[in-house]
Amino acid sequence: MSRAYDELRQEMDKAMAVKTAMTLFEWDNETLAPKEAGELTARVVGILSGEYFQAVTGERMKELLEQCEKEGSLSEAEAANVRELKEELLQIKYIPKEEYQDFARLTSQATSVWAEAKKNQDFEAFAPTLKKVIGYQKRFAGYRRENAGGGEEKALYDIMLDDYEKGFSMENLDRFFSPLKEELVPFLREVMECGKDIDDSFLSGGYPEKEQEKLGRFLAEYVGFDFDRGVLAVSAHPFTTNLHNKDVRITTHYTDRLDSSLFSVIHESGHAIYELGIRDELTLTPAGQGASMGMHESQSRFFENIIGRSRAFWAPIYSKVQDMFPEKLREISLDRFVEGINKIQPGLIRTEADELSYSLHVLIRYEIEKMLIEEELDVRKLPEIWADKYEEYLGIRPENAAEGVLQDIHWSQGSFGYFPSYALGSAFGAQLYFHMKKIMDFEGLLERGEIGVIREYLKENIHQYGKIKTSREILRDVTGEDFDPKYYVKYLKEKYSRLYGLTGK
Ligand code: ZN
Repeated sequence: MSRAYDELRQEMDKAMAVKTAMTLFEWDNETLAPKEAGELTARVVGILSGEYFQAVTGERMKELLEQCEKEGSLSEAEAANVRELKEELLQIKYIPKEEYQDFARLTSQATSVWAEAKKNQDFEAFAPTLKKVIGYQKRFAGYRRENAGGGEEKALYDIMLDDYEKGFSMENLDRFFSPLKEELVPFLREVMECGKDIDDSFLSGGYPEKEQEKLGRFLAEYVGFDFDRGVLAVSAHPFTTNLHNKDVRITTHYTDRLDSSLFSVIHESGHAIYELGIRDELTLTPAGQGASMGMHESQSRFFENIIGRSRAFWAPIYSKVQDMFPEKLREISLDRFVEGINKIQPGLIRTEADELSYSLHVLIRYEIEKMLIEEELDVRKLPEIWADKYEEYLGIRPENAAEGVLQDIHWSQGSFGYFPSYALGSAFGAQLYFHMKKIMDFEGLLERGEIGVIREYLKENIHQYGKIKTSREILRDVTGEDFDPKYYVKYLKEKYSRLYGLTGK
């Protein structure tokens, strides 16, 4: 280990400690914090973010990073940390410190403003805050553009996209989304008009919260969530908070539909299993996180959909689930249950969307973000534009902002460029799935309850690396191919043609 790296490690530990504290506040805000804590917590987070800024952009950090690179002879993990720190530095060093702190304070409050506006179905109440958040994000991306130097000017939205998924720009994403739009919009229509009506009424009503929680815990454990290194709590919007590979927290919410909490638990468990599988060597370092947002979603959606909505997954455990809810499920066969949880029903809410219409929800957000960042779209026009796009792609129109433009938390947190990762993740997952089917008896393993073999494969080939590899490198190393969206369309069309008895490919 090089000496400069030893010293860097100390600086890095400081930065990571502050970051971990901020992350814990984020978790607390969404789960247990009392309503009136908001303003003071925002102040604390503002101060901490200043400390973090200082730790990452301090002169000593800069010197050490340069020295580390000069000295060379870094291990794989060390090199990844140096790379991550340099990138982090590049992201914030051009932002004036006060502005950086102001923004942290703003977003810490913006989420409560958003939550209140959503509760009251009142977009107008959120619009001015949203406008401010967008303003900051554009300025921050602008600082980086100004200082990037070299040839052509990058678009602001491209700079934002690159933060979430290295090497993906509007050009790549247009190429990814346009076949989805061309193939899936008409395919969805075909499914809806084919005349087959799946009855999934048994999934709603009469599922007490306590029992749902019991099932959630059972499923989380069954897929591999480790309760000694994680907790399950309740929040308005299910999410995962990752502190380090000994502390990963997931949330769910309970509604009158069983599948809502059930699949959110499996989804968030997928995120958690990724983080829990990262090598100890990377714990509490900048490279000790999932490779990218897209790769993260590939794992959560892999567990949720490719595994969790398959017949093979439920075969060994369905009778146990029936025993948990005898009055609801005793008469429902495994096949009917599996049909029910795969029913296609375009809805207004992304997080409740079926697997087929899901990527269209993401497409809509992608198109709108492009307009907001690149075309100076007036935020006040958002509800209308949102509704028009839902009508065009999904054939339904929201009646109010809570089930329309206010449904997601992301924009209030300043996360522009995040949404495309959800769809990319599904596509990464499908590509991994087709590869894994070639080298293992995927369905057989699930039917025999040996899901651990699949999980270990993912850990060995993806999770353990943290940020040592990019998502594209992982895909290439695992499947032997670069990212190819064709597998995603193929997976969806095959699965749902079968389920709905369509003859199409
Ligand atoms: Zn997710």
